Amino acid sequence: MELRKDPITRSWVITGDDVGEPTPRPQACRFCGPSADLTNVIATLPGVDGSAWSARSVVHPQALYHIEGEAARRGDGLYDRMGSVGAHEVLLENPRHDGHIWNASDIEVEQFLRLAAQRIQDLKRDSRFKYVSIFKNHGEAAGQEFDHPTSQLTATIFVPRRVLYELRAGREYFESKERCVFCDILAQEERQNLRIVESRGDYVAFCPYAPRVPYETWIMPRSHESSFERTGSSRVGTLTDLAALLRRTLQRIRTVTEAFHLVLHTSPNSQHPSATLGYWKTLDDDYHWHIEILPILEAKARSYTFKEIYYSPVTSETAVQRLREAKI
Ligand SMILES: [Zn+2]
Ligand SMILES: [Zn+2]
Ligand SMILES: [Zn+2]
Repeated sequence: MELRKDPITRSWVITGDDVGEPTPRPQACRFCGPSADLTNVIATLPGVDGSAWSARSVVHPQALYHIEGEAARRGDGLYDRMGSVGAHEVLLENPRHDGHIWNASDIEVEQFLRLAAQRIQDLKRDSRFKYVSIFKNHGEAAGQEFDHPTSQLTATIFVPRRVLYELRAGREYFESKERCVFCDILAQEERQNLRIVESRGDYVAFCPYAPRVPYETWIMPRSHESSFERTGSSRVGTLTDLAALLRRTLQRIRTVTEAFHLVLHTSPNSQHPSATLGYWKTLDDDYHWHIEILPILEAKARSYTFKEIYYSPVTSETAVQRLREAKI
């Protein structure tokens, strides 16, 4: 595997011919019960309500990125390439095989969020890594890999393209207005109250004004903070409301569709000694962490699989009605 940079869009892709045949899913779960493989456990959080553990991170069994080695960025004519150095982990959200975020207790979801914060913090100590992503693909249409309730983590030596767009836009907005664009969006959404799904303590779930897919929903803290892991480790209880809101929002989305992508967007690694990227100076002021949930509506997906321009046949104002009224 290696990383190659698209010279036009400046986004990195991971590619290689050394991808093995997809292995059939084992009958017994590799993450729980007597068949659990404990050799590649990275971190475990203590159990709640009498269980042995609550959330756990393990090395991905077919990791795309590997912790050893050097990035060795090199040119290839006008192109750029580098080794696929990084980390690729599976985050077990719950010790129970059917313990999904939407049917777990708030304290269990909170433990999972705490594990995510701890893993990001830990990996950001490695100054080779520019970014740590956490994402979840649920349902066949989303490319779900394991039956056990899991999310995944990647630590990469580049910032993913979508985050880079957000960072650049956040910095430009801040340069002209000296305000955070995400704070301004949330303030206007709360003022208009047209696209708010639900709020809980400091956290708000809302459908964005220009959605990429029907029922796209974001969860964002009202208090300005660029880094999720700082929120997560600041004081006990800050993640309780987020856990409840995340659980309830996924319950709502599941009344519309089974499959979704979820991604956490947090600040890049400020320990990385990058001189070429200019966004570090105001990063804490102009970026604002959030969670994006992109539901997959299969029937509707057919007409807009060609993603040059996003087309969502349901406006956010209509989507929010359905999500607010969902029986959960
Ligand atoms: Zn399992
Ligand atoms: Zn903000
Ligand atoms: Zn985002």
